[in-house]
Amino acid sequence: MIGTKRTVWTKRTSRGLRLFLIVGILACQIAAFPLRVEFQIEDAQLLGAVSTVFRDVNNELERIFNFSLRVRITVRLGDRASSRLGFVQMGEDEYVVVLSAAEAFHRTLRHELMHVYLDAWARRGGIHVPLWIHEGFANWFESVAGYRTTDLIFSGWPPIDPLKFQNYPKGDRLNSYYVYITDLFLTLDSRIGFRDHLIELLDLVERGNTWKDAFSQMLGEDFAAFYRHWWWKASLLGFLGWAMLWMVWLAGPFVLGVLLIKRGRLKKGCDVSSEELEELEKAFGERYWEKEDE
Ligand SMILES: [Zn+2]
Repeated sequence: MIGTKRTVWTKRTSRGLRLFLIVGILACQIAAFPLRVEFQIEDAQLLGAVSTVFRDVNNELERIFNFSLRVRITVRLGDRASSRLGFVQMGEDEYVVVLSAAEAFHRTLRHELMHVYLDAWARRGGIHVPLWIHEGFANWFESVAGYRTTDLIFSGWPPIDPLKFQNYPKGDRLNSYYVYITDLFLTLDSRIGFRDHLIELLDLVERGNTWKDAFSQMLGEDFAAFYRHWWWKASLLGFLGWAMLWMVWLAGPFVLGVLLIKRGRLKKGCDVSSEELEELEKAFGERYWEKEDE
């Protein structure tokens, strides 16, 4: 009913009223959910984009987790100068999702909403979700569309063992941590298929299995063995990138030298040699360039 009214109205109404209507319809649609969402975004265009993506991502996660959120979520833009891409503050039935870079909000929203769903699920069953699981699923869900294994090559040395961290690593190691955890969970996803089978994994944990045991059952292979295998692949790629970087540094001066010599030869080739000058003078006479056309 709202839909048909809107189509008639938008043709006649001013921009301000139209905006008012869109926001109103948005509020109605959101009020229909047990989930309450407030967007604290002033820019009307950005507000529209964020709320649309929010609804899509929320639907996607509802299907994966097979339950609906009954919480309050505030979505707002953070400090532009902040180095953090985005984060979520988790309270009892209340979450604040902060999107820092408006341009990359799509990925950040996916990442933070996965944290929200995992946290809401864990609170229901009183389950502990370690950092590697939280970040693993958040990064998997964020980057299903745009990740390359080659990212590991440029993630720095020494390699990161994501299972060893109870807290986030400091400084530039944080980026490497995200690359490793993303690769681990995309590898797990290729074997398990989280989109369709995440609920089964969560059920196993709810029934008292440890995360590693639940993964073992889903993989049909001991998680420790799987992890060792993955860790070797990841370390090898990390080492490859590190070695390549050193090769560039060592071979750099040599390559530069060769280029400089080549450039010198090229320059000489362009100048007119003394023999060539003689030829020109023979044909056109001395100071041939000063002669006027007859
Ligand atoms: Zn995160």
